Amino acid sequence: MAAFDPKEFAVPRERARVLVAGAGGLGSPALAALASSGVGVIGVADSDVVDLSNLHRQVIHVTAGVGLPKTASAEEFLKRSGFGGAVLTFQTRLDTGNIMEVVSEFDVVVDACDTFRSKFMLNDACVLAGRPFVHAGVLQFEGQIMTIYPERTACLRCLFESPPPPGSVPTCQEAGVLGAAAGVLGAIQAAEALKVLDGKKTTLSDRVVAFDARHMSFRTVPVSRDPGCPVCGTKPRIDSMEDANYPPEACD
Ligand SMILES: [Zn+2]
Repeated sequence: MAAFDPKEFAVPRERARVLVAGAGGLGSPALAALASSGVGVIGVADSDVVDLSNLHRQVIHVTAGVGLPKTASAEEFLKRSGFGGAVLTFQTRLDTGNIMEVVSEFDVVVDACDTFRSKFMLNDACVLAGRPFVHAGVLQFEGQIMTIYPERTACLRCLFESPPPPGSVPTCQEAGVLGAAAGVLGAIQAAEALKVLDGKKTTLSDRVVAFDARHMSFRTVPVSRDPGCPVCGTKPRIDSMEDANYPPEACD
């Protein structure tokens, strides 16, 4: 596929709108890093409430906020941090009915969701809406990260056509997450989102970085677009959010 100019997706920081989808293990460090980045608008989407058992990896939330919606707790954090822009909160589960409308409001999206259902839904919505996004996933000591420019560079479905069947991969709740591993990946996601906004050529596009905190290793794997990709290929079968079958999540 032809090379493209990432400047196509550049937006001046002060006008830039960044959505962080998920305000948990990845979203917390991403939001902490974005708070002082000078972006104009930060959106936070999460349907959950702050839970004591997750606080070790959800560093922006505090014990006094247990029981509050994570979106409200995240907004408080951003204000406490001196974030000078606007905060938009979406205290709702992003689903086929609302996800396109939400992602379309933003210039770049950070995938800080914790379920495969949400990750694939976000991938499809961002590709269909033409929004660049920064995917990451973390489990136990490991994680991976990739930046996607819609219909320019490989998307999540170019690598994995569909989500793994429910129950085949342990959930964060079942397997646990090293808080510091989520912290590393979330901070990298923020850096990637800012590089997208700045039009940098050196984002993690068409490559996946696999991080392993046990060996403290970062392994880069080149990837490329799949012409048979169901959402960004030459003959996509997913033209709208209604076209894909998103599996239910065991941990929803
Ligand atoms: Zn694709």
